[in-house]
Amino acid sequence: MKPSTDLTTTLQQMLAQCQPLYTQGKVADYIPALAQVDGRQAAVAVATLDGQVFSAGAAEQNFSLQSISKIFGLVMAMNRLGDELWQRVNMEPSGQPFNSIVQLEWEKGIPRNPVINAGAILVADVLVSHYSASKTAFLTFLRRLTGVEAIYADPLVYQSELEHGNRNAALAYLMKSFGNIEAEVPQVLEHYFHQCATAINCKQLAQSLLFLANRGVQPGCNEQICSRRDAHRVNAILSTSGMYDQSGEFAFKVGLPAKSGVGGAIVAIVPQFGVITAWSPPLNRFGNSVVAMQLISQLAEELGLSLF
Ligand code: GLN
Repeated sequence: MKPSTDLTTTLQQMLAQCQPLYTQGKVADYIPALAQVDGRQAAVAVATLDGQVFSAGAAEQNFSLQSISKIFGLVMAMNRLGDELWQRVNMEPSGQPFNSIVQLEWEKGIPRNPVINAGAILVADVLVSHYSASKTAFLTFLRRLTGVEAIYADPLVYQSELEHGNRNAALAYLMKSFGNIEAEVPQVLEHYFHQCATAINCKQLAQSLLFLANRGVQPGCNEQICSRRDAHRVNAILSTSGMYDQSGEFAFKVGLPAKSGVGGAIVAIVPQFGVITAWSPPLNRFGNSVVAMQLISQLAEELGLSLF
């Protein structure tokens, strides 16, 4: 598939057609700082491996990265720990809400996969235990991938999550009780909330993940960010688990590795082509953005991007 400048027009038209969907979802409010965000915003961006970026809407407006941060954390942990990581976290879909606790008890503190909250908290433990300053290392990684020095963690969102993170704390303490968390729980949670609070926009996010569409090599700087095998593995996990308990439906309808966050963004990786990002804060009952789902589904259909 060769992108053309017409793609911008297509993106603009698709965005305009989404207007009626704005009222169908609900902005996340279990993190009070996110409840303040205006729900009538939306953007879509496509970054291609040859260095082009197409976009429509508020594509330079910052939003909260939230669970999409789990991808970057996972890549960092895979790079540091190698295959040992997979003794502490599984690679199976959970079929449960992203913050579910029940399965974790049954499965003795081993999270189903690294992109549900329990798995990402486990990954945060690996980062805290293997980097001298994990929060800075996370931001440095994102700055390297985007080439944008100004990427930061929003202090209000960070604080809000720290104050309202009881469920995540429960997950972390449960894993600690099974011996699957090495560091102290408060330190692990601080890292996790800090990476979730990263502020980023659609264009930057699309560019930052190009390496996953390019066998681990970030185009532009030509750096090997992770091994080819690990890029495949991350895409496999995103295909089966990245949209939580809507992952099956997303594979069925869209057919791309993808990840959502409660900030309202979704990223979809199109191997050998590029990355699509879409953002709009109102979420459906699975915690996935209603408008971003529609934008990515429609684009994948129009451009024939499904991998299956
Ligand atoms: N920080 C959020 C949480 O832990 C991330 C969840 C998400 O984006 N799905 O609940």
